[in-house]
Amino acid sequence: MKQVSLLGATGSIGLQTLEVLRLHKDEFSLYAMAFGKNIDKALPLIEEFNPAIIVVQDEMTKDKLEKEVNHSRIFSGSGGLIEASVADSVDVVVNAVMGSIGLPATLKAIEAKKSIAIANKETLVTAGHLVMDAARKHGVELLPVDSEHSAIYQCLNGESSKDISKLLITASGGSFRDKTRDQLKGVTVEDALNHPNWSMGAKITIDSASMMNKGLEVIEAHWLFGIPYDQIHVILHRESVIHSMVEFVDRSVMAQLGTPDMKVPIQYALTYPDRMELPITEQLNLEQIAALHFEKMDFERFPCLRMAYEAGREGGSMTTVLNAANEEAVQLFLEGRIDFLDIEYLIEKELSKHQVIHSPDLSTILSIDKRTREQVRSHLK
Ligand code: NDP
Ligand code: MG
Repeated sequence: MKQVSLLGATGSIGLQTLEVLRLHKDEFSLYAMAFGKNIDKALPLIEEFNPAIIVVQDEMTKDKLEKEVNHSRIFSGSGGLIEASVADSVDVVVNAVMGSIGLPATLKAIEAKKSIAIANKETLVTAGHLVMDAARKHGVELLPVDSEHSAIYQCLNGESSKDISKLLITASGGSFRDKTRDQLKGVTVEDALNHPNWSMGAKITIDSASMMNKGLEVIEAHWLFGIPYDQIHVILHRESVIHSMVEFVDRSVMAQLGTPDMKVPIQYALTYPDRMELPITEQLNLEQIAALHFEKMDFERFPCLRMAYEAGREGGSMTTVLNAANEEAVQLFLEGRIDFLDIEYLIEKELSKHQVIHSPDLSTILSIDKRTREQVRSHLK
C-alpha cells in the first residue's frame, strides 16, 4: 500500500488524483492533504479519506478548520507543505498546488527521497536547476503529471537521451486560438476561462489562452528531460489527441495518444513503471475523431511563447522573473483589474529590466520571485 501526500487536494488535479485513489483503494491511501483556503471543498474529503496530516494556506484558515474538525495534526503555510511532504510514512508526494509556492516543499521531498509526481510546473520554471540537481543528488525520479511531459516520458521509455533529435510538444491553442490579436483587446475573464478541450484550474486556463502555458511547458521539458531549447518544438494540434511526441535521430517519431483526461497521466505517475486499469476514462475513438490537424506555431500571435523561449535560453533567474510576473499578472486579470493583453505587457516589462543572475540559490530565487510580484502590482497605482 503506497501512502500518498497530496498537495493541492481541492484543485482540478487534486480532485482528479482523489478519483484515481478511490479506484485503487488497495494500492493507495491518502496520508496527507494540503489545500489553500477552500474549507467547504475540503471538509467532505477530510471526512472520506481521514488523512493523518492536513495542511492549509494560513493561520486564519487553520483556526477556522479547527472549529469544524477534531484533528490533532493541522499545519499551515509553506512549513506545513514541507511537513506533509517529508513525513516518514509518506511514499509519494503528488505536487498539485498552483504556483511557485510549491518549490520549497518539492526540494524537501526530494531530500527525503520521496517519489514525486509533479504537476506543479511553476516549480520547475522558477528553479529547474535546483530541483534537478537535488533529484540527481538524492537519486529521486520526478514523474511528470503534465500530459505533454507524461507523453514524452512514455515515448522515451527505455530510450537513450543521446538518440533524441527533438521533442514535439502539442498545443491545443487555448480558448482564443481563432482570434486575431486585434480581437483579443476586448476579451473578458469569462471568455478566457472557456477552454475548448480541457477543464482545469483558472490560472492554467488563462495561461493556455495566452500560450504562456506552452511556454512554461517548454521550460519544464528542458529541465525534466535535459534537452536544449533548440530541440524543443511546439506544434498546434487542435484535437488534443496526441499529447506530445519525440523524434529520434533515425527520424522515427513516437507519439502518445488518448482522450484529453488528466486522470491518465496522474495515474501513470502513481503506478509507474506499471499500469492499472482506468475504467472512468473514455476510450479513444479514432473513427469518430476521423482526422488530426497540425499547424505551425506563430510567435508573433503568441508573444508569451516567444518570451518563454527567450527567458529559458537566457536561463538563471530569468525564468523566475517570467514565472512570477506571469503568476501575478494572471491573478490581476482574474481579479478584473487589468486587460488580457496587459498580461504579456507586464511580463515583458519585468523581463526587459531584469539583470540575469546565473545559478541562483533558493533564497535568491525566493527574493526575486517576491520582488517581481511587487513590481507587477506597483504598475497598478
Ligand atoms: P487549481 O487552481 O484548480 O488548484 C490549486 C490547488 O492548490 C488547490 O487545491 C488550492 O487550494 C491549492 N493551493 C493554492 N495555494 C495554496 C497554498 N498557498 N498552500 C496550499 N495549497 C494551495 O489548479 P490546477 O489543479 O489546475 O493546477 C495545479 C498545478 O498543476 C498547476 O501548477 C498547473 O499548472 C498544473 N497542471 C494542471 C493541469 C490541469 O488540468 N488542471 C494540467 C497540467 C498541469 P484552494 O482550493 O483552497 O484554493
Ligand atoms: Mg499540459
